[in-house]
Amino acid sequence: MRYISTRGQAPALSFEEVVLTGMASDGGLYVPETIPQLSADDLTEMAGLSYAEIAFRVMRPFVNGEIDDETFRRLVTEAYATFSHDAVVPLNQLDANHFLLELFHGPTLAFKDVALQLLGRLLDHFLKKRGERAVIMGATSGDTGSAAIEGCRHCDNLDIFILHPYQRVSEVQRRQMTSVLADNVFNVAIEGNFDDAQAMVKASFADQSFLNGTRLVAVNSINWARIMAQIVYYVASAVALGAPHRKVSFCVPSANFGNVFAGYMAYRMGLPVERFVIATNANDILHRTLAANDFSKQELKATLAPSMDIVVSSNFERLLFEAYDRDGAAVAALLERFQAEPTALADAPLAQLRERFASHSVDDATILEVIREAHHRTQEILDPHTATGYRAAERERGEASVPMITLATAHPAKFAEAVVKAGFPGVPLPPHMDDLLEREERYTVLPAELAAVQQFVVENRR
Ligand SMILES: *Cc1c(COP(=O)(O)O)cnc(C)c1O
Repeated sequence: MRYISTRGQAPALSFEEVVLTGMASDGGLYVPETIPQLSADDLTEMAGLSYAEIAFRVMRPFVNGEIDDETFRRLVTEAYATFSHDAVVPLNQLDANHFLLELFHGPTLAFKDVALQLLGRLLDHFLKKRGERAVIMGATSGDTGSAAIEGCRHCDNLDIFILHPYQRVSEVQRRQMTSVLADNVFNVAIEGNFDDAQAMVKASFADQSFLNGTRLVAVNSINWARIMAQIVYYVASAVALGAPHRKVSFCVPSANFGNVFAGYMAYRMGLPVERFVIATNANDILHRTLAANDFSKQELKATLAPSMDIVVSSNFERLLFEAYDRDGAAVAALLERFQAEPTALADAPLAQLRERFASHSVDDATILEVIREAHHRTQEILDPHTATGYRAAERERGEASVPMITLATAHPAKFAEAVVKAGFPGVPLPPHMDDLLEREERYTVLPAELAAVQQFVVENRR
């Protein structure tokens, strides 16, 4: 199997190359050239298997024999052994037919661990095989940096530099990054805001000469391996609820669309899915596009669900590629228009998307209301991202006899501010993290100057 670009112009790549590459050279994103199929028998045989074994079976065709089975099984098993729940991603039944898929039992309490625990290991494996080292650079406003750091802390061939805005990250989120004292982990607090940090990372990717030939790797959500790892929990949860003999629906709190696109891939692989409900916060480009065919950028709004604060959903391009029947030129033309001005999808692709996707947008006041309402009805305290999903799932449920699985993307303790705003006294950290506020921290404060940051990277990478 090869991987091709959604804009049709970049060279096709192997799995190894696609893991080591971010964006395609034509500005597109990589997708598999053919979609592997899971038969009804394949799904039936998964019932009762461990999460790691299901993960191995679902992802194996995408790896295309480029990692031997024994090694790949070991990487997968190690990745998911870092989760604190034996089921890795347990299902929690809320009412007669509504389930929460708890994706937050990983090291940083949010669903990005599912992908990044594997991605770090895959990168390390391929770099070691090539006798290369690489540098990861990323900027974070708090939430995703820690998942990248936890995914790479044991990787011998990677050094990771995560920039966060000095004194502008919540204490829990800062400590989740800065208390990782591994030799290859470098936290840099930038005397500026998130945009300053982001701009320096972008400039470093645009001109990598400061690294003298060392590979610079991005671990953002456009990396194909992240999508691949996320396909697994759609399959595992549907099988747990009776697939292939029973259909399920999923509701996904969405931002860059990586998570829900992984679900769509599971569906295209043969998983019987009735519908996907896309939940957004007030940054509602996905909802506006689906509901009103308004495919346009709007100003960024800071919400109570900050990990869903986006202007553009980068992975939506992968779905557009499918909806436009894999016509890369049409996707490139649409996205070029979109960058310049408000635009709309063509009728046929939009109609095709509406057959399988529904959407709902949830503002901040409603997030607080939902946290209270869900607690009243189910005793669960939802994090603000999951709260958008809970409401969207109720509103866009569809056929009541089809089980609805809402993806719980973060642990409420990670976003306690919103929970307190909703009127609760707070949420304790889970037991294995309850000493977080006492752990030793390590980070370096630097001015918001590109030269200073790049010099720090060059001097400290191993
Ligand atoms: C990243 C994130 C999301 C959004 O996921 P996408 O794949 O970008 O759609 C939702 N909730 C939480 C807690 C996240 O960290």
